[in-house]
Amino acid sequence: MCEDDAETPELSSFADESDSDGSEESSRDSLEETAPRVDVASVVDTAVERPRAERIELGVELLTVVDEEQLALPEAVSRLETITNDPTVTREILDAAETRGVIDRDGATIRRRVRGPTVEFERHVVRRDGEYDCRRCGKSLSTGHFVQFETGEIGPFGSSCVRTVIGRD
Ligand SMILES: [Zn+2]
Repeated sequence: MCEDDAETPELSSFADESDSDGSEESSRDSLEETAPRVDVASVVDTAVERPRAERIELGVELLTVVDEEQLALPEAVSRLETITNDPTVTREILDAAETRGVIDRDGATIRRRVRGPTVEFERHVVRRDGEYDCRRCGKSLSTGHFVQFETGEIGPFGSSCVRTVIGRD
């Protein structure tokens, strides 16, 4: 009656809208389903420089997971530069890693003494679509790869740079 008259047009217009929206959203949803879930806090975190102590922890963690047993110092530094742009912090990471017995320094070479967990791409690398610049080469990306460590994550990287950073080349 009166109620029916009022409700019918509303329902049909609602149905139309959800139909056209629905196709877009479902394709977006399916993309997200393939990637591990990500919390907003960690996204924000990568845009801002982390606290110094956290950068040092991340750097030490990165040194334990690289696949190579030996790294030339400049190569190690260039990987640590994906975590911090501050050379002082880079030096502190190397010092902390050495003090804790994670690495040995031998002139311009570092040797990994403590092996962290192997980075598995399916478990430890998440992908996010968005406008990013690769932390290693600066290339602009439509998909960022982020490596998850216990302390936090590093990235974004392009698909080949993420392999380089963990030494999987
Ligand atoms: Zn890159």
